[in-house]
Amino acid sequence: MTQRPYIVGNWKMNGMRAMLGEARAIDRAAERLIKAEVALAPPFTMIHAIRREAQLIGVGAQNCQPEDGLEHTGEISPAMVKDAGAGFVILGHCERRAHHHETDAMIKAKAEAALAVGLGVIVCVGETGEQRKAGQAEQAIAARLKGSLPGGDNAAEKLTVAYEPIWAVGSGRTPTPDEIGAVHRMIRSQLMETYGEGAAAVRILYGGSVNVENAAELLSADEVGGVLVGGASRSAESFLGIIAAAAERGS
Ligand code: PEP
Repeated sequence: MTQRPYIVGNWKMNGMRAMLGEARAIDRAAERLIKAEVALAPPFTMIHAIRREAQLIGVGAQNCQPEDGLEHTGEISPAMVKDAGAGFVILGHCERRAHHHETDAMIKAKAEAALAVGLGVIVCVGETGEQRKAGQAEQAIAARLKGSLPGGDNAAEKLTVAYEPIWAVGSGRTPTPDEIGAVHRMIRSQLMETYGEGAAAVRILYGGSVNVENAAELLSADEVGGVLVGGASRSAESFLGIIAAAAERGS
């Protein structure tokens, strides 16, 4: 059975209560949501409110901190994320890797802790512009993936991988569908090596400057199971346009 395209909105550090109307409007577009699986990852402060308002869409977090016996002022554990109403967490986003110095080992530990409480995880990997120019994109992504993937017998069941070229996030630039397809095929083969047959169902998303105009083309690339959308997910109008493109593909 072909999976519905998975369309995830990452609101990053955006979202006051005034934005609840956007989440509500996205959730009410039921017809389109039958053909695509849709989720929003708002800031922690809005998870509970969106979960309470929304009937159809998934709600997730953008980070979590594993419990390790230490006190962590200002952090939120996977169990707390789940208690607030989230069903999944995005981990290893390039902004967290760059600005919060998150390493592959930290992301792996976060992913294992999130899976342990029953959350789904979206692990992000991508190459820098320099690595792509030097022809080292796939090598860099493979190394990142190897270090970040959670271990464990059932890890693949609740895992999604997002390929997000660092140079494409928030820049208005995107790789070609052929370039995306090549990376996604490499990710799929690495997932199969790591998890065996169970990896066949792991969704691989593309993320980086997806918008209403380019969504259909990016979604048509080989092995693309959906998209992770930043800026264009913050208004119902543009996010619903992307969902419509995905629903078209899913029909
Ligand atoms: C992101 O933040 O995950 C992202 C893909 O951002 P944008 O769509 O704005 O490039």
